[in-house]
Amino acid sequence: MCERILLKLGGSVITDKNADCVINYDQLSLVASAISKADTKSIVLVHGAGSCGHPEAKRYGLEHGAVAGKTDGIYVTHRAVSRLNEAVVGTLRREGIPAAGIHPFHTAVADKGRLLSFECRHLEKMLMLKMVPVIHGDVVMDLSQGACIVSGDQLVRYLAVALGINRVGLATDVPGVLDGEQVVPVITRNMAPALHIGSSMHTDVTGGMRGKMNELLDLAQAGIGSEIFHVSRIGDFLNGTAHGGTSVKGE
Ligand code: ADP
Repeated sequence: MCERILLKLGGSVITDKNADCVINYDQLSLVASAISKADTKSIVLVHGAGSCGHPEAKRYGLEHGAVAGKTDGIYVTHRAVSRLNEAVVGTLRREGIPAAGIHPFHTAVADKGRLLSFECRHLEKMLMLKMVPVIHGDVVMDLSQGACIVSGDQLVRYLAVALGINRVGLATDVPGVLDGEQVVPVITRNMAPALHIGSSMHTDVTGGMRGKMNELLDLAQAGIGSEIFHVSRIGDFLNGTAHGGTSVKGE
């Protein structure tokens, strides 16, 4: 079987996080062009929600779940992230990439905010047909709390294992995980507490870099390392050359 790559596009890369669902089409076109030029046989894309979904989820308090009679937030939030997904898929397809959107709201079940299941048989079939599934952070129905938000980073952690991914990359709007102004070249679970990235990690109340690192350290422990790099280095990551970012490793 050929090498399988999972690439996540950060919400901060593809949307303007300071505005309400403003999609960064220029950045999306650059990303699509870089992917279409790379010699990649089998690729799964995941993207964050950025400003399409997070404001809605917050407005309706989805982090606390949902109860009967107060479910509008589920529909409204899913519609916002789906709109972004459609824009991502459309841009990829205009570059000749055989992309198709997959919505976790339709295919996943969670409990207490964590994914319990995600149907992958159709993803396997799509990869066999050389299609590019494009999956996104989404609302997912939750057995304990009614509904929850499953982040793109949680999806990366789950799908990398479920799909037997060989290489995982996260494209973001910074050059890697930063300790002050410096990129941390390698992060392992043992050294993570000693790094001075604590304060900036805490700036994002929705999990931000801290949530991302927890997912990626868990993934590394499961035997799959990952790379975090600036979006302009997607070509380097896909081609397996140095990208100047951070490697998250198991040891
Ligand atoms: P998401 O899909 O969760 O929005 P992104 O990759 O777009 O993921 O966002 C990660 C964000 O984390 C970046 O915009 C960056 O500014 C922020 N961040 C906070 N702390 C750090 C840190 N120590 N190193 C790197 N990025 C950090």
